[in-house]
Amino acid sequence: THFGFQSVPLGEKQGRVNEVFHSVAGRYDLMNDLMSAGLHRLWKNNLVAMLRPPRNRPFRHLDVAGGTGDVAFRILDAGGPQTHVTVLDINGEMLKVGQERAGHAYEGRIDFVEANAESLPLETAAFDAYTIAFGIRNVPRIDAALREAYRVLKPGGRFLCLEFSKVDVPGLDRIYDAYSFNVIPRLGRMVTGDAESYQYLVESIRRFPPPAAFARMIEQAGFKRVTYRPLTAGVVAIHSGWKI
Ligand code: SAM
Repeated sequence: THFGFQSVPLGEKQGRVNEVFHSVAGRYDLMNDLMSAGLHRLWKNNLVAMLRPPRNRPFRHLDVAGGTGDVAFRILDAGGPQTHVTVLDINGEMLKVGQERAGHAYEGRIDFVEANAESLPLETAAFDAYTIAFGIRNVPRIDAALREAYRVLKPGGRFLCLEFSKVDVPGLDRIYDAYSFNVIPRLGRMVTGDAESYQYLVESIRRFPPPAAFARMIEQAGFKRVTYRPLTAGVVAIHSGWKI
């Protein structure tokens, strides 16, 4: 059933999300490249460019829903020797792929934590910055995740979220719909043998709040100077906020 996920109650949502990423972990990176025609790399580079990790002083970073490490590696490459990234994800298989990809390249500068974004097993006011890329959409209680983000940041800390958004160019929105509802589940079936997981992905993008509403949710968690920047005609947006 195409809309099988639509009515999933909050308590069951995480179980479905976990199935999705369990099923695709091994081919996750390949699928990202195929589905976005490589654009996800550019979007992640934009995220890290906005963060601008310092090169010459300590910087403790937390990347939530960090999956296979894509954002973490970019931050470590852009930062300096005192940049440290904690990659947190609810799914151990995604983290395992990330650990394998990291190899020994970032020894002492990266660690991996299996945990839920809604209740972080991390100290209060411990991090200089927090990122979440294509992750918050999957979290059942977004407000809880935002509150936790606020809690673990130091005063002066930065929150950045990269997420699918609303295409805001007339005409393009219909092409984008056609692409996501027809091409993506088929691609998913071809590459991972699992069309349903990618059907879920497309639906979760449709259900996510529009960028202005999401900005208000970030403010409700306590963040100040909340802004957002649409990229690629609004296919994705980067939201930013500060703990002051
Ligand atoms: N940030 C990575 C990237 O951009 O390539 C991975 C994004 S992937 C689309 C979404 C990730 O969110 C998956 O690895 C999944 O396990 C994780 N996830 C889903 N629900 C979560 C939760 N409640 N807490 C932490 N991670 C979660």
